[in-house]
Amino acid sequence: MRQPTNAPGNTAPCHEETVELSVDQDDLIVRVNAAWDHFALDNDGAHLANDAVLGWNLLDSVSGKTSKSFMLALLELARRRDREVCFDYRCDSPRLRRFMRARLRSDSSGAVHFSHEHLYSEAFPHLVTFKTAAQRARDTAIRCSLCNHVRHDGLWKLPEFVSQQVFDGRTVSVTYGICPSCLEMLEEAR
Ligand SMILES: [Zn+2]
Repeated sequence: MRQPTNAPGNTAPCHEETVELSVDQDDLIVRVNAAWDHFALDNDGAHLANDAVLGWNLLDSVSGKTSKSFMLALLELARRRDREVCFDYRCDSPRLRRFMRARLRSDSSGAVHFSHEHLYSEAFPHLVTFKTAAQRARDTAIRCSLCNHVRHDGLWKLPEFVSQQVFDGRTVSVTYGICPSCLEMLEEAR
């Protein structure tokens, strides 16, 4: 499953409207709402619109081993619980810090229903651009799929800081993972 080009390497859609997606008990995508199509079309993802993703395995869309395990753990948590799982994440664009809220709930069939709500956005002081690297290289940084912080010199730092202070405003080449504080958030939710 290909991603829209500026999606954060995971299944967290960035859009002003609340994007909804449901998977069945086997993690196959069985429903997306109209906002999903708007999101896909706005992000060079025309091939993902008009129900093209129905029948695809959600986990195939998650890039990076850590992000995949995180998604598996979330699905497992949602199915084990009888109440909603809710967490906040970032889905930045080069100009905006975008604050999002994800909610997951399961039903008796084992299906899991996701919603991604846009909370608010703030402008970055300068352009902050990332591109997904095909492979890790010496200058490839790790970006957290959830909070968008970037690991540099062994520390997780603000994306705008790394972009400006370390890369002098150039596009930063990244692979995706989950930072320790976001992993801890999931542990606490268990
Ligand atoms: Zn994080």
